[in-house]
Amino acid sequence: MRYVSTRGQAPVLDFEGVTLTGLASDGGLYLPQEWPQFSREEIAALRGLPYSELAVRIMAPFVGESLTEAELRDLCQRAYGNFSHAATTPLVQLDEQHWLLELFHGPTLAFKDVALQLLGLFFETFLDKRERPLTIIGATSGDTGSAAIHAVAGRENAQIFMLHPEGRVSEIQRRQMTTVSAANVHNIAIAGSFDDAQAMVKRMFADEVLTATLDIGAVNSINWARLMAQVVYYFYAALQLGAPDRKVSFSVPTGNFGDVFAGYVAAHMGLPVERLIVATNKNDILARAIRDGDYSVGESHATITPSMDIQVSSNFERLLFEANGRDAAALAAQMDEFASSKTLPLESVQREAIAAMFSAERATPEETLAAMRWAHESCGEVIDPHTAVGLHAARALATDAAVPVVTLATAHPAKFPDAVKQAIGIEAALPARVGDLFALEERFETLPADYDAVRDYISAKATR
Ligand SMILES: *Cc1c(COP(=O)(O)O)cnc(C)c1O
Repeated sequence: MRYVSTRGQAPVLDFEGVTLTGLASDGGLYLPQEWPQFSREEIAALRGLPYSELAVRIMAPFVGESLTEAELRDLCQRAYGNFSHAATTPLVQLDEQHWLLELFHGPTLAFKDVALQLLGLFFETFLDKRERPLTIIGATSGDTGSAAIHAVAGRENAQIFMLHPEGRVSEIQRRQMTTVSAANVHNIAIAGSFDDAQAMVKRMFADEVLTATLDIGAVNSINWARLMAQVVYYFYAALQLGAPDRKVSFSVPTGNFGDVFAGYVAAHMGLPVERLIVATNKNDILARAIRDGDYSVGESHATITPSMDIQVSSNFERLLFEANGRDAAALAAQMDEFASSKTLPLESVQREAIAAMFSAERATPEETLAAMRWAHESCGEVIDPHTAVGLHAARALATDAAVPVVTLATAHPAKFPDAVKQAIGIEAALPARVGDLFALEERFETLPADYDAVRDYISAKATR
């Protein structure tokens, strides 16, 4: 399988290359040259497979020659053997039409583990053959940081520098990052916002002083391998609900548009998907883009669903590219215009293509808490606020009772205990597998939101 950039000017790469690269050198994002196709018979034959075996079948065409099937199977078994539920991502019924797909049974209690546990193993496998270690640099608003650190800690040939905005991640999220003692893990608290941290990381990918001596890799969802791993659970859920003979809709709590884009990929591989519902909080740039064709950056708001407090959704570029018939030159011009004006009016072909598959709904804080109460009082389920945004949207937009709607449960309720307490009065207890986060010593460096200071720190600390 060959991978191309959405902006058309970067080298074509294979799966190994695309896994070890962050942003494409032309500023675009990588996508497979074409979507692998599964026929109805091939999809029917996937029914009943255990999660890790389904993962092998779905991912093999994307991995291509970069790994043998036996190597891929070994990595999937190791990654998903780390989950605390035997089904990896169990499907839970709420009522006759609504289901939850629980994606939070990995080590750091959010869906990011599903992809990052595997990505850590891909890194280790591919880096084994290389001389220089991979230096992973990322910025996190909370969940990506801990999942990435747990995926990379202690692995040979890789080191990770994770930037988080000082004081703006929850205490549980911070401790999940800073109590990891492996020598190849470096946490940096930036005296600034997430956007400051994110902007510095983007700049480092293009910094010739750094890249001359360090191979820099990415763990956020601009990395194609993450999206690929997420395609698997769309198949897993739909197969249990009757695919390919019955269509299913999905409601996805959305921030950077990575998770829901994986649903789009599943549909393009042949999985019968009725609708993909993009669920957002008050930061509703995506809802405005999908409903009104207006992708313009608004003011950023802090909400009870911090992992979705994102204004610019990196992966939306991948959808815009698909929706304009993969015209890289036109897309590059559109993105340049967006970079300067912060607004992007969708072309009519893009609006139509997107409307054919996606719906969008936003949830207010009251609606989010009400969805948590409904899940608890009517269905006996304690859910986290991000999942609740998805469930609110699912219930608001589900019209055809014959089509089951699966809401992706993206975090464990104990990760966001304050919102859970506020909604239903229950103290959500942390599962034993996270250990005693509050007894362990924390390790991090605090730096000003100053590019040179952060770059020099990384450059000095990195092993070469
Ligand atoms: C990251 C995250 C999201 C948003 O996922 P995207 O792929 O960025 O759209 C939603 N919920 C939780 C709990 C998350 O950690």
